[in-house]
Amino acid sequence: MIPAQFDYQAPATLEEALVVLSESGDDAKIIAGGQSLLPVLRMRLNAPELVIDLRKIESLRGIRDDGDAIVIGAMTPHAVVGSDPLVAEHALLISKAVEHLADAQVRYRGTFGGALAHADPAGDLGAPALALGAQFVIASPNAFRTVEAEDFFVGLFETAIGDNEILTEVRIPKHTGWGAHYEKFVRVVHQWPIVAVAAAVRAEGGTIAEARVGLTNMGSTPLRARGVEEALAGQPATADAVRAAAERAAEGTSPPSDLNGDADYRRHLAGVLTRRAVLAAAGA
Ligand SMILES: Cc1cc2nc3c(=O)[nH]c(=O)nc-3n(C[C@H](O)[C@H](O)[C@H](O)COP(=O)(O)OP(=O)(O)OC[C@H]3O[C@@H](n4cnc5c(N)ncnc54)[C@H](O)[C@@H]3O)c2cc1C
Repeated sequence: MIPAQFDYQAPATLEEALVVLSESGDDAKIIAGGQSLLPVLRMRLNAPELVIDLRKIESLRGIRDDGDAIVIGAMTPHAVVGSDPLVAEHALLISKAVEHLADAQVRYRGTFGGALAHADPAGDLGAPALALGAQFVIASPNAFRTVEAEDFFVGLFETAIGDNEILTEVRIPKHTGWGAHYEKFVRVVHQWPIVAVAAAVRAEGGTIAEARVGLTNMGSTPLRARGVEEALAGQPATADAVRAAAERAAEGTSPPSDLNGDADYRRHLAGVLTRRAVLAAAGA
């Protein structure tokens, strides 16, 4: 289907974009890579009067080292994030998740910030960002504010970004030396997961000193598997110990039931995928 008619602006600066956005209110929609927004417009699930394109705003692109965090600009394409050595060194879980995100064309056009702002519960970046304790920097016409990952994902396709606000960058606390793995279960390659598990592990010798585990598509937002994290701390990185901890993966989740599988099937998958992800992250 062809989208409803809309006006289009591509401001050159963040300040200009924020002014245009605040003057247009509910009638405007931000476009980043367009990989999720354009299908929405084509299906006429949304019909904004104005589309504001962020592609000319250079300050929203790029990856930098900021001491204890890696900072990823919202408009940085997935392909750039996935091949960046700083991300691989300090936030390996993000690199691992991007490897599994869609196909090469989508990774070239789609952006890190766009995917997180879209907040699809089946999106591959929410769980790793949550597991690593990412912070989201959000600009409004008068100020910047920083939102913790725990508070950023509010509901189904809903984040803490307000109508007049733009996500500018995501700060990922460094997890240097941690092992990481993203285990994604799909029916068709290059698609959104039925369930996926993001695991980062700090191992000391053969012991799991600390683990962070995020779940994709096990509720309306990405979730932390806190029960698993608690159960893993101090355990040997063995198949038996990890299997026992992974049994807690579905605690506190509310997975959907759809044509790809019902909620019970997803709970089962969460346990299996958690075991695989943690063992791989621990290098066991
Ligand atoms: C065929 C196909 C397969 C895909 N497979 C997967 C997959 O396997 N896993 C996966 O995770 N994703 C997948 N995607 C989605 C992909 O990751 C998109 O890149 C992503 O969801 C949206 O990023 P974008 O930059 O294209 O954002 P857009 O589509 O431009 O925007 C998405 C939404 O976020 C808002 N937005 C964008 N940037 C900002 C910002 N800086 N501040 C405030 N709001 C903003 C927009 O207004 C819009 O509502 C797939 C997409 C396609 C087309």
